[in-house]
Amino acid sequence: MPPSVEARPRDSRGYPVPAITPWEDETPRFALTDYERSAECARNRLCSVCNTLMPKGPVWRVVGAAESAAIRDTLDAGRPYRNLAPTLEAPGHRACMLYASMVCPYLARPNARRGTSAETPDDMTAHVVRGAVRGELGAVVGFGDYEFAVTRSQVLFRFLDVVEFLPHDTADEHLPALRAELARAAGRSGGRQDGGQPR
Ligand SMILES: [Zn+2]
Repeated sequence: MPPSVEARPRDSRGYPVPAITPWEDETPRFALTDYERSAECARNRLCSVCNTLMPKGPVWRVVGAAESAAIRDTLDAGRPYRNLAPTLEAPGHRACMLYASMVCPYLARPNARRGTSAETPDDMTAHVVRGAVRGELGAVVGFGDYEFAVTRSQVLFRFLDVVEFLPHDTADEHLPALRAELARAAGRSGGRQDGGQPR
């Protein structure tokens, strides 16, 4: 577990609760995305999993089967992947997204369905809702940049320039990559930067 995730509040079973997860009566609603928390992450460039700063440079996200296949096809064809469709899913650190891909049932479980905003599909979000059923295959994807928009009811993200594509058939495939990333991060900071300390 990344140290910054280790420092997150836990639910009653001991699972770390992502930054963008809403709480109701002291119970995290893992299937949902909290509007205010998501907006705060977007405005302050905070990781949607661990709520600490994402350094300048690439950001990561877990994508489902449909987007994973689309990225694979364009990369195989030697074309740049360009998806202008906004998504409700916020970015995070590489380690956090590798971790989330393995443990978050809404990201990792085949055919798990995200609960976000499905009740208000419109032209902007219909494709997001359709794409929200994850298949056997997904990916952890690094993007060179992202844009966001905070509307009255939603926080939308758009991701540009695929810089890393790590597809998976099962979520635990990313364990070696996560271990390597955590070792690299520990070496880089000579311990931990402020972001990883419990507070
Ligand atoms: Zn993080």
